[in-house]
Amino acid sequence: MSLFARRAGLGLARRSAASTLTAPKRAFASEAAAALSGPSFKLNEDQEAYQELARRFTAENIIPKAKHHDETMEYPWEIIKAAHAAGLVNTHIPQEYGGAGLSLLEGALVSEELAFGCSGIQTAIEANGLAEAPLLVAASHELKQKYLGRMTEEPLVASYCVTEPGAGSDVANITTRAEKKGDKYILNGTKMWITNGGHANWYFVLAKTDPTQKANKSMTGFVVDGDSAGIVKGKKEINMGQRCSDTRMITFENVEVPAENVLGKEGDGFKIAMGAFDITRPLIAASATGVASRALTEAAKYAHERKTMGRPIIQHQAIAFMLADMAIRVEAARALTWRAAGIKDQGERNSYAASVAKAFASNAAVRNADDAVQVLGGIGFNTEAPVEKLYRDSKILEIYEGPTQIQKLIISRFVEDRFKP
Ligand SMILES: Cc1cc2nc3c(=O)[nH]c(=O)nc-3n(C[C@H](O)[C@H](O)[C@H](O)COP(=O)(O)OP(=O)(O)OC[C@H]3O[C@@H](n4cnc5c(N)ncnc54)[C@H](O)[C@@H]3O)c2cc1C
Repeated sequence: MSLFARRAGLGLARRSAASTLTAPKRAFASEAAAALSGPSFKLNEDQEAYQELARRFTAENIIPKAKHHDETMEYPWEIIKAAHAAGLVNTHIPQEYGGAGLSLLEGALVSEELAFGCSGIQTAIEANGLAEAPLLVAASHELKQKYLGRMTEEPLVASYCVTEPGAGSDVANITTRAEKKGDKYILNGTKMWITNGGHANWYFVLAKTDPTQKANKSMTGFVVDGDSAGIVKGKKEINMGQRCSDTRMITFENVEVPAENVLGKEGDGFKIAMGAFDITRPLIAASATGVASRALTEAAKYAHERKTMGRPIIQHQAIAFMLADMAIRVEAARALTWRAAGIKDQGERNSYAASVAKAFASNAAVRNADDAVQVLGGIGFNTEAPVEKLYRDSKILEIYEGPTQIQKLIISRFVEDRFKP
């Protein structure tokens, strides 16, 4: 039995309820938030079932295909379809719109498990969540019904279009324009690094509607149908890691968008686009925890098997302590992730906790992947070992959805405010 199957098997031995790959019934909806109302880290039955479902899905559908998708860069459509059928995509769409209505914590449990298998495939699955988050934050009932509803009916993907060639961290500096003409807006501009950009059924697009205003009033968020005339999809970018995830430049050339596709009201866009990160950054932290955990798993297993100077290398203290550090990072990353998710589930603002979790967990993933390569020695540097892929895949976690420096900017502002004399 492979390491991966053994790991999945361990999970199954702990709990056998999720015997088929379908989502469990929502028997404990209100408990989802309640579970983290205190400092308890015990998952309730529903949460364990989702974790179990995702773990099993990963073992059966992601791990066996991860190498193929990394090597070929082939978009993982079949896996997305299977994940959709299993109830592991669009997990946070409310039941009112046909979704599972999972809490953020439950979503984080799913993300960690999927990323343990392959964070590239998980990103392709999870990018829907990023596109959908602005709609959850601000869309009218009609827009939610139309655009979130369809995501639950069939396996579709959507994209979040904020970054531009000239503006990533500096969102205030975007130049995409939307000008109102009658009951439509005309959209012009270029977005860069758009995940799922080549396959999106619809796009969330942030554009300037009144460039004379300050950032927090100058932008508006739109939902744009993927088949609108004037959308030009760039080539698939060839990235260092997460290579099967589809990242493209998307250009909008005189694209007509109906006025009813505005999220919230004109001028609310910046707030909405940033508010979405309170939902999605804990999920990036969860994904990073999955990568960090996989690195630890691979390194620990190898350290038991590989012998030098007459003993398994895990018995050399230098290696054992490296593994201990990796374990500490996994535990801390997971705890911070659950906390950031739990705060949001309780209806409180979690921007600070989300940035703390994202900054720490993404760094944990990068450091654990680095350590895993070191523990494996020469074979760690080779494409036959899974840790080489982890090393490449992990780096983007410190960059997308706000690089670490931007998370620290957010955290430092909270600190400055909190300790103001
Ligand atoms: C694979 C991939 C997928 C992506 N998916 C999406 C997507 O789906 N949708 C989307 O909209 N975007 C997406 N992005 C874009 C991503 O969010 C940006 O790359 C990221 O926000 C950084 O922006 P930038 O690349 O312009 O870097 P810059 O903003 O130019 O930053 C360059 C460096 O300077 C640092 N820096 C910048 N400003 C400051 C400051 N004030 N203080 C200190 N340091 C600073 C940064 O931390 C970074 O290290 C994706 C990117 C990649 C690579």
